[in-house]
Amino acid sequence: MKVGVLALQGDVREHVSSLIACGVNPSAIRRIEELEAIDALIIPGGESTTIAQLAEHYELLLPIRARINKGMPVYGSCAGMILLADRVLDAVDGQKTFGGLDITVRRNAFGRQVDSFESDIEFGDGGSEKVHAVFIRAPWVEEIGKDIKILASVIGPDAKSHPVAVRGGNLFATSFHPELTGDHRVHRYFIEEIARPALVRGGLR
Ligand code: GLN
Repeated sequence: MKVGVLALQGDVREHVSSLIACGVNPSAIRRIEELEAIDALIIPGGESTTIAQLAEHYELLLPIRARINKGMPVYGSCAGMILLADRVLDAVDGQKTFGGLDITVRRNAFGRQVDSFESDIEFGDGGSEKVHAVFIRAPWVEEIGKDIKILASVIGPDAKSHPVAVRGGNLFATSFHPELTGDHRVHRYFIEEIARPALVRGGLR
């Protein structure tokens, strides 16, 4: 299985290391030929506006959208979650996303006082595994479409629960950064529960 990390901006190296730890041999994706060669993609944390602009500049925006529409498995962390979202609140004017995930995200949702924080949260279908989650100017999910599964939530400064990990079909997003913790279970979830089964079913390129 060939898994790429979109390497335009953001914490690319950390995702590459996590994938290697999961037994995958990842490649950095900057050009369309590299995109065509992969079975699954990770969109790193960073700055969603910059990544979108660079994707447009390198003529990757529409090809990535097309691969998503064909069913390519994609995992986006933080800025990557924003880039997978169909709708973005507090976006900058004209901010584009790849889209595909039927969610509305709010950028920088946790506000200035809790700009960045860490928390142990329940993650997974059963919600029984605790993972250490690092949030850095993170978004949260404000609304979900009917086919979206919530895999983790946290209580925000507004004292309400907000989804921070979601899955819709082959698209998966977390507003936290598992690539920064040395705990590879979230990446393993993407590889073993989403990407590999999709590859076994075939026909995603
Ligand atoms: N706030 C950033 C954005 O809008 C995301 C931050 C991150 O990826 N750590 O892109």
